[in-house]
Amino acid sequence: MGGRQVIWQGKRVTVAGMGVSGLPAARALHGLGAEVTVVNEGADERARAQAAELTALGITVRLGDATTLPEGTELVVTAPGWRPDKPLFLAAAEAGVPVWGDVELAWRLRRPGAAPWLAVTGTNGKTTTVRMLASILRAAGLRTEAVGNIGVSLLDAVLGDEEYDVLAVELSSYQLHWAPSLRVHSAAVLNLAPDHLDWHGSMAAYAADKGRVYEGNTVACVYNAADPATEELVRAADVEEGCRAIGFTLGTPGPSQLGVVDGILVDRAFVADRQKQAQELAEIGDVNPPAPHNIANALAAAALARAYGVAPAAVRDGLRAFRPDPHRIEKVADVAGVAYVDDSKATNTHATEASLAAYDPIVWIAGGLAKGASFDDLVGGAAKRLRAVVLIGAERALIAEALARHAPEVPVVDLDRTDTGAMSAAVREAARLARPGDTVLLAPACASMDMFANYNKRGEAFADAVRELAAESG
Ligand code: ADP
Repeated sequence: MGGRQVIWQGKRVTVAGMGVSGLPAARALHGLGAEVTVVNEGADERARAQAAELTALGITVRLGDATTLPEGTELVVTAPGWRPDKPLFLAAAEAGVPVWGDVELAWRLRRPGAAPWLAVTGTNGKTTTVRMLASILRAAGLRTEAVGNIGVSLLDAVLGDEEYDVLAVELSSYQLHWAPSLRVHSAAVLNLAPDHLDWHGSMAAYAADKGRVYEGNTVACVYNAADPATEELVRAADVEEGCRAIGFTLGTPGPSQLGVVDGILVDRAFVADRQKQAQELAEIGDVNPPAPHNIANALAAAALARAYGVAPAAVRDGLRAFRPDPHRIEKVADVAGVAYVDDSKATNTHATEASLAAYDPIVWIAGGLAKGASFDDLVGGAAKRLRAVVLIGAERALIAEALARHAPEVPVVDLDRTDTGAMSAAVREAARLARPGDTVLLAPACASMDMFANYNKRGEAFADAVRELAAESG
């Protein structure tokens, strides 16, 4: 701690944003002796209450103006979600002031000899994979935690008293954008599909930010053999001497790959003779749920664990012990012979494509904030499996237009509502349209913030409505 205190003493740091990453960052930096100024766009009641708490600690807070750089700023620490084209960052760039995100800050504040990071990014499957990985590492007897979007924050994991052998870290494209010096043990990019393009500006910029996760890897860069863009990112990365490219595939693995043979997950990468040998890790039935996209997640988690030296039996035990989080292809109930499935976490078209592929026929509930996405491929690919579609949310017209183009024969109910009660109406419409044997699937392909606080709340609203329906149908 001593050395770090010297570096931070009196350093003038501007923390941008008072959200989940900004508040702990401001407190931590203040604790290290930095002169912290927090700038925040909003100045509502909640912001004022938080500002009062920070001010009481001796932290300067500027509410309602986050465009200009406070005088004398030497470093900006930003909430990862802030768009890079904000005036504050342009001002920082002009003044030659570095900008770090929450991940960069945590990375720089690690203690000497701290636990190495195994990192996971990708458009979809990050949380699931990171939690599978932590479960595997735990089964191997290692002290570890899944950190990132859920549970323990990175900063807490790095600064807290708990000691870890290794961390399973989920990283978003935003976080990677703001983490220039991150260098992890091994990393996986699960897949790459258009998402958050409004934030990154282009697909190329989005991919480049994801690809940063491979920069400086020391042991393995894990890519998805079915998604050549991920392998491309490995090739473009500047890694440590001896770091290996490891693929995962749902088919038979080649040398330096993990894959599936006769229902068995096998490793042909971390074995003595990868030309001739393959090591059995687990059975498909050990993966929960054993849907194709989830087996891919399990293989990626296994690859990172094996890169860290975990034994095959621990991969199997860890996968068996793993339980998926709510709102990820979660069956809520059967009502009148119709299955109701909550995949509220499908907030983009790539995730929705995976869940639409898992059922037939489907009454699909979709809509929300599109984040600049196009729905043509999604709708075209799923058209044959759609019994009907119920649309809700602010940007549902984009989906309606894609349906009109690619699935004109599929009945569409456009609810034209964004109030919170709309979900209950949507479930009722879906129930009316479904026949026994169908699946009513909430897989919105959109973000939820037009109608709900987050995707959890959206999923809960769906589940509540389904339970109501079940109660009524006796
Ligand atoms: P993330 O943390 O990247 O958002 P999650 O594990 O929370 O990922 O899953 C998000 C959504 O993506 C879920 O709806 C899930 O069904 C879907 N999903 C999970 N893994 C994959 C995958 N490998 N490919 C495509 N979709 C996936």
